[in-house]
Amino acid sequence: MINIAIDGTVGSGKSTLARGIADRLGFHVLDTGAIYRALACSFRDEKHNKIDEQEVEEFIKDKNIEVFFVGKNQHVSVNAIDYTNMLREEEISNLASQISPNPVLREKVRELQQEFAKKYDCIIEGRDIATDVLPNADFKFFLTAKPEIRAMRRYQQSQEKNISYGEVLKDLKERDYRDEHRMIAPLKPAKDSIIVDNSQMTLEQTIEYCLNIINKKYDKYGKNKRIKQ
Ligand code: C5P
Repeated sequence: MINIAIDGTVGSGKSTLARGIADRLGFHVLDTGAIYRALACSFRDEKHNKIDEQEVEEFIKDKNIEVFFVGKNQHVSVNAIDYTNMLREEEISNLASQISPNPVLREKVRELQQEFAKKYDCIIEGRDIATDVLPNADFKFFLTAKPEIRAMRRYQQSQEKNISYGEVLKDLKERDYRDEHRMIAPLKPAKDSIIVDNSQMTLEQTIEYCLNIINKKYDKYGKNKRIKQ
């Protein structure tokens, strides 16, 4: 199977890049942030009053996570509850980033991601895909942009209009900080990741830039037939 890893900071355009490449290559996409978000929804449903290691480990013990697709749309259910419609709430973004450092929880999600990569030619996007989940991925991209630019993209996309640009920027910096400084699988480029700073690029240009890199490598290995031009 051909596996493409896309990691990066909040709002760097990972999902758009993954979808753009997938549309051209006909690959599957796995949005791993959605899995952590669905777990956060389930955690919220259970009304835990603390977010410490013990509490998260207790929570994850009996959880059955399923990822399935309705057309091209990814759904995630936890113990048979489909949380797809709630994943983008700001509260869930923050809760996902607070429970995601837990090693037991990460291990469960890691196994699910690795199973997916074995089954499909795919693009998996997240934070630790190139460093931890798929260290042997065929392509590794690390996407980032200046925080102010990423916050503006997020602010313009946000459905929650009662949140200000300043709050989006603050949340984004806090989430990046937590992801970069956790003990297990912190957010960082792998040694062999291609770092793409798209502060000065549109998301369309980012897709073209990465596709060019993929095309070159496929040419080199004589596998370019697989790419729909
Ligand atoms: O990518 P997204 O913003 O949907 O991810 C939500 C949260 O899930 C992130 O802030 C991060 O803490 C966590 N996450 C992670 N590892 C991944 C994907 C997401 O820790 N591979």
